[in-house]
Amino acid sequence: MKLLKTKEDMSALADSWHSEHLRVALVPTMGFLHDGHLSLIRIAHQKADRVIVSVFVNPTQFAPNEDFASYPRNEAADRELCKKEGVHAVFIPDAGEIYEPDASIGFTESSLSKVLCGKTRPTHFQGVLLVVNKLFNITRADAAVFGMKDAQQLAIIRRMVRDLDMPVEIVPAPIVREADGLAMSSRNVYLSTTERKDALCLRQALDMAEKAWADGSTSAESLISDIRKMISAVSGAAIDYVEAVDADTLEAVSTLRSNTLVAIAVKIGKTRLIDNIVLN
Ligand code: AMP
Repeated sequence: MKLLKTKEDMSALADSWHSEHLRVALVPTMGFLHDGHLSLIRIAHQKADRVIVSVFVNPTQFAPNEDFASYPRNEAADRELCKKEGVHAVFIPDAGEIYEPDASIGFTESSLSKVLCGKTRPTHFQGVLLVVNKLFNITRADAAVFGMKDAQQLAIIRRMVRDLDMPVEIVPAPIVREADGLAMSSRNVYLSTTERKDALCLRQALDMAEKAWADGSTSAESLISDIRKMISAVSGAAIDYVEAVDADTLEAVSTLRSNTLVAIAVKIGKTRLIDNIVLN
């Protein structure tokens, strides 16, 4: 496994692979890897001949009041896990390597980034699109794998690739969960023992959505209201949003139907967790 720290080295390696007609897949991450990330790597292996994992805590997607400084990091463990998973290259640049001090070009997305997480994190997706675009360019990715855990991010990246005719195949990966149903996340380490129990209300909310759908209920309003009631009864939980939207357009739906994304964001203590389910 190769370790690359500079854009130049990363691009040169990817170019050499392309000159051998090898297909390259990228798994972009912020590190502190868990089984969710590893599942993306395994999917990447099925999609390409060479797999690159990028580990970069991207400063432009954090607002000043968010957890950029305290975001968990463990480069040595990440490298070890990547090696075990047969990753061909890990790209671990410094922020100074990725962003020019006088960088002046950015992205705006005027629809999908305005809803759900975009309401409380208004600049987040601009930062995500910028870094993902740069990582695609640097790694020459033919394919890139993104988790459905971040369903809004996936929808926005698909939109970017569509609207800008980017030659990258976007591959979605299912959500990986802990045994008790909590979606894996690097941020779960922030949770205390009590908070870890409270956090199960997210999974419970999705179970309610799944059950309503299986029972043939179609009212998004009553499902949202039931979920809000259940989460409100958990004293350590504060709802950011509970919404039912179309999984591609992220427009609110009033009638539950196939491809409805039930998405929730809840603060457990100081930790903001997201989770979702797509009804099918
Ligand atoms: P992050 O390091 O949190 O930025 O995540 C990097 C990638 O891993 C993103 O595409 C996430 O959607 C994906 N991911 C994170 N957690 C999970 C999970 N529990 N299941 C599936 N994919 C995940």
